[in-house]
Amino acid sequence: MKIITDPINEPVSPTVMERWLKCPTYGWLAQRYEPTDKVIAPYKVLGIAIAKGFEAWLESKRVGTEVQFSNDPNELVTGAIELSWPPDDLNWPIETLVATALKGYDKGIKNLTSCLETEKVIAVEEPLDKWNARADLITERGSDFIVTDHKVRYKYDARYAPSNQLESEVSWQLWDYAYRVSLKYDRPVTHIRTHFVYLTPSPKSVLHEKAITEQAIENWHLGAEVKWAEWHKLHRGLLIEQPMITINCHNRYGKCEFYDFCWLAEKDEQRAAMLYNKKGGKSGMDSQNNQMP
Ligand code: SF4
Repeated sequence: MKIITDPINEPVSPTVMERWLKCPTYGWLAQRYEPTDKVIAPYKVLGIAIAKGFEAWLESKRVGTEVQFSNDPNELVTGAIELSWPPDDLNWPIETLVATALKGYDKGIKNLTSCLETEKVIAVEEPLDKWNARADLITERGSDFIVTDHKVRYKYDARYAPSNQLESEVSWQLWDYAYRVSLKYDRPVTHIRTHFVYLTPSPKSVLHEKAITEQAIENWHLGAEVKWAEWHKLHRGLLIEQPMITINCHNRYGKCEFYDFCWLAEKDEQRAAMLYNKKGGKSGMDSQNNQMP
């Protein structure tokens, strides 16, 4: 008997939800504003470039594909770095970025190659539903049906690696993908997996997998319905109406990037204008899924 049920409320993008769950005020602000002194972290650019490389390589391995992998990884990674971060804004030499990204890419490809000895690629970055959610990789291994998400981290620290892995087992994003993939293919996902790529001090690729059940996916989905409904009700309201989860204003990583918006400017958009720029166009809406990015 089928356990996983269709959505009742319109599902919200997992990236948007993760920010909103941290603090609804943060979710509201992060879609509309960014600090005037915000700098792009090099590891984010490297992550985008490596993911582009994996995507092209995995697409050539997809079942039934006619695509041959003839790309030069160097060109692929360099192109992705230039696209996501114009050279004028780099405070790292582009050669260093490319060399670092290529080392991570090579490690990842080696690991994925041994994985694909027993797995078939079903889909790569494929839209899962009309709201345009995309999982990095969907594979099949006998009766196992696996969703994988790539995560690029700048530095490997053995002290935090086990907790990173445990955190990945309860990632909202991965459970969201498990739910949407199960619906799309009418086949329950049996495993969620994170492909960690660490770039320094020496490149590493680690695949961490967790077996899940159809009932667990439905349990996640029923809870998500409550949160999706809350998001739709609250998120389009005014800033002043958004709850503040003050336990996240300061944490072990430091101060929230919207601390001054909330506490110095007291959530007054005019007073905060010196410190924060408005994002994107007038509406700031994501045209693809009718939700903000
Ligand atoms: S400073 Fe606190 S209340 Fe404001 S967005 Fe950040 S976490 Fe939320």
